[in-house]
Amino acid sequence: MDVCEFPSSEAEFRGRFADDNRCREYLARLKWPEGFRCAHCAGDRAYFLPSKRVVYECAGCGRQVSVIAGTIFEQSKKPLVLWFRAIFEVTASKQGVSAAELQRKLGLGSYQTAWSWLQKIRSAVVRPNREPLSGEVEIDESYLGGPEPGKPGRAAVDKAVVAAAVEKRGKNCGRVRVGVIANVSADVLTAFVDNHLGDGETAHTDGWRGYAQLGKTGYRHIISVLSKLDQTAAEVLPRVHLIFSLLKRWILGTHQGSVSLKHLDGYLEEFTFRFNRRRARRITHGAGRLLAIAMTTPPRPFWKIVGRPRPRGKTRLAFVA
Ligand SMILES: [Zn+2]
Repeated sequence: MDVCEFPSSEAEFRGRFADDNRCREYLARLKWPEGFRCAHCAGDRAYFLPSKRVVYECAGCGRQVSVIAGTIFEQSKKPLVLWFRAIFEVTASKQGVSAAELQRKLGLGSYQTAWSWLQKIRSAVVRPNREPLSGEVEIDESYLGGPEPGKPGRAAVDKAVVAAAVEKRGKNCGRVRVGVIANVSADVLTAFVDNHLGDGETAHTDGWRGYAQLGKTGYRHIISVLSKLDQTAAEVLPRVHLIFSLLKRWILGTHQGSVSLKHLDGYLEEFTFRFNRRRARRITHGAGRLLAIAMTTPPRPFWKIVGRPRPRGKTRLAFVA
């Protein structure tokens, strides 16, 4: 689909997707970019069934197919126009929205609906087969949450270890990747780097021994050992430290620190999506990208995507500023 067709301003977006028919037609074009094709009989003509809202019937064999089957919108009975608005809210604003704000803006009946919509939208922010990071990449890890001020202890209770990698582009940041990691061992950190860094690219880290093997596993490795430098970690690896501080500010600001460990991966992916598109010229850019990914993404829990054991159910991160 020609991306130029996508609205470029908020006013255009609202005008274009003002009713469910237009939203549904847009989703149908994403689903069948070459025109309708029946999966059963390969027929290329179908009728929309107005009484069924999102269902087309093949003119050849009579099979019915929902345009939202196998997408994050599956099973939803709410108007598509609200979904489009929600996706716009998440992608267009610099800080995203909390579930409470989304509920209020869209007039949704319950907080739980707004919350689950955000979860589903977050499941559609990762483009399949995205390109690995390239060039020189700063990598570090940090804790989110953690002990209350004044309470000692390194026990990993109510806090998560998060790794980040960010491309160095002159004095600026290029693309970023952020993810929850189980611990800071060499196996885990190397797996994180393997997931996000292209072969032969350059990893810049501190002297932590968990990174010591990177130079032997196909990467160039720059190590800045802090104890030998008269500099702080934030000075040696400024970009990745900026990422952690923006991330913490976003969680404390938009989400008021109320983020469960179980769903943290989704928040991190949303943060990554927004950061990597921060220089997009059109305010609707993210919404266009997300709608396209959403059409091929069935909602599923993040722990299945990353293949980690599911964290304890009710753990919430105790965030401190
Ligand atoms: Zn058919």
